[in-house]
Amino acid sequence: MRFNRNDENYVYGFVGKNIKKFRKMRGLTQDELAELVNYSPSFIANIESSTHQTFSLGALWRIASALGVSLHEICYDNNLGSKKVNCTTYTCMRCSNSIDMPIEVIDIFDFIYTIGKSKEIYPTFTCPKCGGKLIPKKK
Ligand SMILES: [Zn+2]
Repeated sequence: MRFNRNDENYVYGFVGKNIKKFRKMRGLTQDELAELVNYSPSFIANIESSTHQTFSLGALWRIASALGVSLHEICYDNNLGSKKVNCTTYTCMRCSNSIDMPIEVIDIFDFIYTIGKSKEIYPTFTCPKCGGKLIPKKK
């Protein structure tokens, strides 16, 4: 069932989906998770099936703890952040560490560079691992 975002039951839909996602990432079955948190397997099944099974904040806390995730992660509405972030891959010249840098961040630095002087097409960054120079990976 799909809920409208204006419907308060909407929250049970995406939280249920998150619980299912994290449970699978941990390689747990519904029964195993139920066992861990001491709830019935049908309760877990209902939460995940978006039948708009309501649950308490305490229950959510217990489930999040059992899955090793924060309440923030389990309450995150993925429908809001499904927009793909455009990135350019930067590679460290010293340790080959590679980092995906969002275009928006590069643009801000690029702007600062332009005000400065620099003929470099892309701004460079410092590697968080070794302090080396990060340069954009050649396509
Ligand atoms: Zn490095």
